[in-house]
Amino acid sequence: MTGRLVIVGAGQAGFALAAKLRLLKDDRPITLIGAEDVPPYQRPPLSKKYLLGEMEFDRLTFRQENWYAENQVDLKLSTHVEEIDRAARRVRMQDGSVLGYETLALATGSTPRALPAAIGGDLDGVFVVRDKRDADLLSGEMRAGRRLLIIGGGYIGLEAAAVARHLGVEVTLIEMADRILQRVAAKETADAMRAIHLRHGAVIREKTGLVRLIGEGGKVRGAELSDGSMIEVDFVIVGIGVMPNDRLAQESGLDVGNGVIVDEFGRTSDPSIFAMGDCAMLPWRGRRIRLESVQNAVDQAEAVAAVLAGGGEPYDPKPWFWSDQYDVKLQIAGFNLGYDETLVRPGMREGSLSIWYFREGEFIAVDAINDAKAYVTGKKMLETGIAPDKRLLADTAVDLKQLLS
Ligand code: FAD
Repeated sequence: MTGRLVIVGAGQAGFALAAKLRLLKDDRPITLIGAEDVPPYQRPPLSKKYLLGEMEFDRLTFRQENWYAENQVDLKLSTHVEEIDRAARRVRMQDGSVLGYETLALATGSTPRALPAAIGGDLDGVFVVRDKRDADLLSGEMRAGRRLLIIGGGYIGLEAAAVARHLGVEVTLIEMADRILQRVAAKETADAMRAIHLRHGAVIREKTGLVRLIGEGGKVRGAELSDGSMIEVDFVIVGIGVMPNDRLAQESGLDVGNGVIVDEFGRTSDPSIFAMGDCAMLPWRGRRIRLESVQNAVDQAEAVAAVLAGGGEPYDPKPWFWSDQYDVKLQIAGFNLGYDETLVRPGMREGSLSIWYFREGEFIAVDAINDAKAYVTGKKMLETGIAPDKRLLADTAVDLKQLLS
């Protein structure tokens, strides 16, 4: 039998790796170590239905706890790995105990960027949304009439804004850049999403940064903004991006950039250590990227499982992503990095549309707003390498299906 696989991080990728190995009938001993006190679960609902109170936590977990015992996966919860001793091939936990491995997998995810304490980041009433505990603390604040400041107009901030408005919370969202979704989507997508938020009564202030939060008795009470204005707030959500959890890797001397550097098989600079999910930096078309999505966490983990089970192909990410805000589903296929042209196609239903991205004429990604057909078609085109005719794509009289042939 192969020696023990230790997986550090019992989240989306860590679970997917263990589950896929068992599916592949790989019977090596597996220990799955997680810092949280609950079995592995999916995070996306934390800023959507779970935060809204419309989804029980039980529906977030990937498996009941008995699955782990039944599948000989030793699940260690509330356990933080502090150190990797690569020479001795073992990890050290926070209680000082050690565990040996033959193969190590790092699936440690990422951590929200925090606001510095010097500008009020440590005040009570300042939240991030990363795990169940964050969402539970936050949901206690989400009451009608309270005033919420959201810092950052990315997906997490916008989703939290939608939940808050749904619950009658007064929302001001500030974004330092020229517009919301600047880093991840085209202007047309941002314009459409902004309009939806404004329609629901959220206040969105772009080109507006935070100077400092103002506290009273240790609790946040207000904010001074970069345009000189002051606002009163009851609580704050910080959604200004995440940082990969790569400290363990770095301290053990593995190659690290903006995340743990891996090759196309998920292998780090130490051949007995793999990394996957949010914490990993992978090769993609001549550059190194980090992807923060369920798709990447699962697909990369499953690719590593295939390698460990004795087969495996180079992992070539086929990104897809979604975001739910109010009654709007934004679905994204492909990776729009470096796009130089966009094409907007109105959908069949009112308010539905899709934004198609091109780089040097090549179709690379699509954002579909309440337009499942555009999403499915665009995803299929990307998977099969079909290059859509832009003239036909722009013509709404042409059925998208026609473009697939
Ligand atoms: P995680 O799922 O974060 O798991 C990492 C785990 O490792 C954590 O439990 C952490 O506690 C643990 N850990 C870290 N260090 C240690 C250590 N030293 N010892 C032990 N345990 C450790 N993606 C989408 O595709 N669509 C969405 O709509 C979407 N919405 C999201 C909404 C929210 C609120 C959040 C937070 C994320 C969302 N994502 C979404 C992103 C997606 O959830 C992540 O990309 C995915 O969870 C990454 O999986 P992972 O396994 O790399 O990390």
